[in-house]
Amino acid sequence: MQAVDQDLVIIGGGPGGLTAGLYASRARRNTLLVEKAALGGQILMTDWMENYPGFPDGLTGLDLVQKMKEQAKKFGLSIESNEVLSLDLAGPVKTVQLSDRSVTTHAVIIATGATPRKLGIPGEGKFFGRGVSTCATCDAPFYKDSVVVAVGGGDTAVQESLYLTKFAQKVYLVHRRDQLRSTKILQERIFNNERVEILWDSALTEIDGFFSVERVKIQNIRTNDLTTLPVQGCFVWVGTVPNTGFLNGSIDLDPNGYIKADAYMKTSLPGVYAVGDVRTTPLRQVATAVGDGAIAATSADHYIEEVNA
Ligand code: NAP
Repeated sequence: MQAVDQDLVIIGGGPGGLTAGLYASRARRNTLLVEKAALGGQILMTDWMENYPGFPDGLTGLDLVQKMKEQAKKFGLSIESNEVLSLDLAGPVKTVQLSDRSVTTHAVIIATGATPRKLGIPGEGKFFGRGVSTCATCDAPFYKDSVVVAVGGGDTAVQESLYLTKFAQKVYLVHRRDQLRSTKILQERIFNNERVEILWDSALTEIDGFFSVERVKIQNIRTNDLTTLPVQGCFVWVGTVPNTGFLNGSIDLDPNGYIKADAYMKTSLPGVYAVGDVRTTPLRQVATAVGDGAIAATSADHYIEEVNA
């Protein structure tokens, strides 16, 4: 058996990756977790989590990540801030090309998550960071007593719009259908919030302004009526796209670009696993990502044992 630098490399430091790191480290596998941005991924954008078991009073996404990091490091996980530029995953010895060196490993867990989807309408790119945002936790305080618009009908749009009402005087929520996708408890809250007005069957068609956002154009999908709404901010929460570009087609993906993985988190390549939001899954939550991470690390541990036998 050829010597390798690491038993296991985990790509991505959200809840799935950190949990995989915890389990792999406790299995005494020499494990490196690589994260190119801040540890935590999407949950850093969540102001408050109240559906992660064990925390009846809720906690911030940042708080949970700090605890997960501390726990994984306690058992020996190496965490490095670096970017994976390319991968060679085909053989028994896999190569992970980082920005400054290449690392060989027996197994790889992909936990790269997903990125907020864009609307692709005029003004969205021009005003991103100048009134257009996908992060209420980061930007909501800028909109104290302002009027803002949010787009989407899922858990993110509803939960984050509710957070916006702590600052903005009025939040218009634009949704393309006549019912929300989000979980019922969040729907109850938003229907009862006097600062929120839902614009049903509607689509944002343009974001406009001078230095920053000043107005948006909204089209009623049923009547085609166009209205212009003066707003100071625009939050886009229309789902996510998986972060799989760096794989360059080396692993089987589903038609939406998510990694196909079985119940053991195995992908189409031996020794390569996928966890959390980046894989095809019926539910994208911290609780499910954590479960995926535990399973993937256990599968990888068994795989490494076999290739070393
Ligand atoms: P999501 O569940 O995929 O919902 C996306 C929403 O955006 C849908 O309402 C969809 O409309 C709408 N949409 C999609 N493309 C659009 C477009 N081009 N133009 C206008 N609207 C568009 O995404 P998400 O809300 O970001 O949630 C992602 C995952 O994270 C989900 O599994 C969710 O449960 C989870 N999450 C959970 C929590 C929580 O538990 N508190 C919080 C945040 C996120 P349609 O409904 O018409 O398809």
